[in-house]
Amino acid sequence: MNIDRLTMTIGKQKKIALIAHDGKKQEMLDWCEENKDILKKHKLCGTGTTARMITDRVGIPVKGYNSGPLGGDQQIGAKIVEGQVNMIIFFSDPLAAQPHDPDVKALLRIAQVYDIPIANNKATADFLLHSSLMDEEYSHQVENFSNTVKQRAESL
Ligand code: PGA
Repeated sequence: MNIDRLTMTIGKQKKIALIAHDGKKQEMLDWCEENKDILKKHKLCGTGTTARMITDRVGIPVKGYNSGPLGGDQQIGAKIVEGQVNMIIFFSDPLAAQPHDPDVKALLRIAQVYDIPIANNKATADFLLHSSLMDEEYSHQVENFSNTVKQRAESL
């Protein structure tokens, strides 16, 4: 048994965070409308404005955190750490500078650390949402963090 790795399970019902930069919000609304029937089977959350717009205009409930530039991306990152978010659909805008670019980088990094599926454009989101794994449990190996803390505390 490898005690440096821990088996985590992404349940059949995914905990999906939806985020769209301003220049991509309409694309996100259209994508959610198109995929409403699949999305409503899962537990949805998102950054404040994106979540509100999807709830109001598409009619599926999305729990909203703070707006992205005000810490929403960081809140979602923390939820990944807590196991409360296990998939991200993030329509980021590659053509516009973002005031919260460091937060966006941090979110991408923590998603990578926890091996969280993350789509950052529509094509990837389509492939992800239509994967057969969306209807199954998925087990993966992540860093055994409590073991890492123990080892670090003992060795440093
Ligand atoms: P918003 O944040 O949904 O509150 O607009 C998105 C972002 O820019 O990260």
